[in-house]
Formats: sequence, C-alpha cells, structure tokens
Amino acid sequence: MLKKNDEIILTIDNMGNEGEGVARYQDFTLFVKDALPGDKIKAKVMKMKKTYGYARLLEVITPSKDRVIPKCEYARQCGGCQLQHASYESQLKFKEQKVINCLKRIGGIEDAASLMEPVIGMDYPWNYRNKAQFPVGLDKEGNVQIGFYAGHSHNIIDTDVCMIQDKANEKIVAVMRDLVRKNIEALRPYNEHTGEGILRHIITRVGAQTGEIMVCLVINSEDIDENVKSKLVDSLLAIKYSDNKKIVSISLNINRKKTNVIMGDSLKIIYGEDHITDYIKDVRYEISPMSFYQVNPVQTQKLYETALSYASLSGGENVWDLYCGIGTISLFLAKNAGHVIGVEIVAEAIENAKKNALINNIHNVDFHVGSAEDVVVKMYEKSGGLLAADVVVVDPPRKGCDAKLLDTIVKMSPQRIVYVSCDPATLARDVKILSESGYNLEKFRCVDMFGMGSHVETVCLLSKKP
Ligand code: SAH
Repeated sequence: MLKKNDEIILTIDNMGNEGEGVARYQDFTLFVKDALPGDKIKAKVMKMKKTYGYARLLEVITPSKDRVIPKCEYARQCGGCQLQHASYESQLKFKEQKVINCLKRIGGIEDAASLMEPVIGMDYPWNYRNKAQFPVGLDKEGNVQIGFYAGHSHNIIDTDVCMIQDKANEKIVAVMRDLVRKNIEALRPYNEHTGEGILRHIITRVGAQTGEIMVCLVINSEDIDENVKSKLVDSLLAIKYSDNKKIVSISLNINRKKTNVIMGDSLKIIYGEDHITDYIKDVRYEISPMSFYQVNPVQTQKLYETALSYASLSGGENVWDLYCGIGTISLFLAKNAGHVIGVEIVAEAIENAKKNALINNIHNVDFHVGSAEDVVVKMYEKSGGLLAADVVVVDPPRKGCDAKLLDTIVKMSPQRIVYVSCDPATLARDVKILSESGYNLEKFRCVDMFGMGSHVETVCLLSKKP
C-alpha cells in the first residue's frame, strides 16, 4: 500500500487536465506536477486517497522526448505557467487531446477526433499577454513582494520578469516596487489574512496595436494620500519606452472586501483616460479597467476569424452574441450580418460596447446589460415565442452556459450556434445538451491563447439538424 513520503519510480503515460503528468502505480493513479508523458521519474508521494494520489517530482531519470528546459527560472514554482517544460508543439497536441477527450467522455461525441480542425498555435509563444495582475504583499521579514502567486497558493513569487507578459510591464513593476518601499505607510501592502494594508494588486493592460498602457491599482481604502498619489503618477509617467508604448490611463480600483476577487466595484481615474484603445484587425476598441478583453491579441484575431468563418454569414442574418464583453465579436461579425444583438453582464463593458460601435461607425448592433440567461429568456417570453435568430454565438466564462439559456437558444431555432469556450469540460456538457436538442456538432478548432499554460480555447460549430 502506497503511503505519504514513499519514494517511487514512475513512468508517466498521460497528461491530466491541468498539464500534470499521470502515472499508474500498482492499482493507483498518481498525479505528478511538472512531469510529462514519456518521462521516467523518481517521485515522492505527498498525499494518498483511496484510488489515486499526488506525488512530487524529485528527479527525471529518463526525459520524455517532449521535455525542454524552461526559459523562466520560476517556471516550476509559479502558478502562471504549467507547461514550460514541454516543447510548444507537444503543448498544442496536449490541448487538442484534452478537448477531444472531453467531447468524447462528457459530450458523448464518439467521433470527436474526426471533427477537429488542426489547432491554431502561436508563432511566438512568449511575451504575448497584454494584461497582468500582480499581487502585492509583505514577506515574513517585512520585505515588499510583487509578482505572481505560486501554484495553488497565495504565496507571492517576487519578480519583475515574466516570460509570457508584454515587456512593458517589467518597468511598471520595478517603478511600483520602488514607490511602495519608499512610501510604505501610504501604500502598505495588503495582508489577506488580517485584511489590513492598502495596496492589493497592480493591474496593467497594453494595447498591442496602439501601445497605450493602463495601470490600475487595487486598494483597500477609499483613496490614497495626495502627495503619494502625485509622486506615483509622476514616476509612472517618467517611464521611458523605446517603442510606441505610453501610459495613458492610471486609476484606483476600490476593493474593501475580504475576498479573492481581485477588483471591487468602484473606480477613480487619477490620470488620463478611463480606457485604453486597441485594434483587432480593423475594428477599434475602447477598453475600461473593469471590462473583459482577451489577453492574447495576436491569437484573438485568429479566434474571431474562426468564429466568423464558422458563422458563415452572407449579410442578412440576425445574429446574437451572448457574453459579448465590450462587443468585440459582435462588431467583428456586424459587417457581415444584417443585425447583431450583444448581451453582457458587466455594465461598464456594455458602455464600452456601445461606444465601440459608434467609433467604428457600425449601426446594425444593439447591446443589452444583464445576465444572458435573464435577458434572453425574458426577451423570448415577452415576444410570445416569436424571438428568433439565424446565428447565435456564445462565449461564456469557464462555468459555461446556463441550462435555461441553452433551452431558450434552442427555441429561437438558429441555423448555427458558434460556441467559443475557454473550458472544454463545460463546453462538452453544453454540446451534449445541444446535441440532444436538435443540433449536430459539425466541427471544432482549438486556438492557443495561453502558450505555456494548460488552458485551451475552442471554437465549435453546431448546426440545426435537418
Ligand atoms: N466575447 C467577449 C467576452 C468573453 S469573456 C470577448 O471575446 O472579449 C466572457 C464574458 O461573459 C465576460 O465579459 C463576462 O463579464 C461575461 N459574463 C459572465 N457571466 C455572464 C452572464 N451570466 N451573462 C452574460 N455575460 C456574462
């Protein structure tokens, strides 16, 4: 019987959902973070359950053919990247397989592999993220810590450098670190356990096409000291970038709750604009600190182009874009559609969406604030069952679509449903519901938005059964 602290030799033969290695040992399944299929390793058992357990990689005895040396010295500790030790090509294979497995096991789509179009990988899977959220804290000795959370914990790895972030962030973190140290009372790092302290997170976002940068400080206070505020603005604005990058917006987000949720509900602009601007292809978008915007701009264009091609619009269609954020997909589709209606729960994002339609001179779109399950279901009921759609696009958060919403979408009887998903398990659950309600999964394609990470984005086309 295996027990904690046993040291064993394992051959990894599979990859788990979060990119961890999976091995069989006697009658147990063992999950080993940082191990890859094909690795022969020495591991130490950390925790055992009845039929499975967790082990820690101690030594790679024979490396997998896919194993590479991580670029980042924190790759193993940091919770940001799960797959830096795997070749990029093998990361893409793993992601495809993960989606196929979910569609088969959860979705009941036996021939999933034959419906897949090849994954769209990144040309350069580094420095791609346009958004960073750095937690701020103090270590036991009282040193300021700014960086990233270690895997499955809230311990901060103190670093200015991250290989998957836009380089612009490094300078911002360095300046902020210095400012916090020198103004430790006014900017005292927040303590999650006691709820004391002021500065919780530093959030940055860069417009890939425009170079416009936003810095948003999440604070556990209504405001910060005026002197420190002006020093902060001056120091951030003094950052010199060699390319077209420039800070155009600095804000405070107020979050006084004892919670894991990073942002609070209110925002104060302390310098410049209340948004940054960016382009995806030729559509221009204004993005506020509290609105969702895809984190990988190069791949986002490919994702939206895939969604557009799956929607097969010919110009007159009545399209719904549910979970529309700042209207990115809605506006991307609008030029090829008759009319587009976007629905999104964050009011600020809908304000952005309406403005974005205006600045792009797009008039065949309407946006509604509210949860998709609420808004669409009510609109359908109010229409007496007449509300219809030719194409429905959904792009929900990880928990997938609400069952009530799926039911209403089916009643609206669209020819095509384009499902954009960031979680293959909930995607497969929803595909199962839709395929039991008159829709066929025609094809799907993964788009890698998260190189070095284990997450995967998928676009699916479902068509109404004849
Ligand atoms: N399609 C957009 C946004 C996708 S992210 C884009 O590509 O940028 C998912 C979005 O769903 C977020 O903007 C989130 O605020 C929103 N959301 C979350 N729950 C929702 C719900 N129940 N109803 C409508 N929108 C929701």
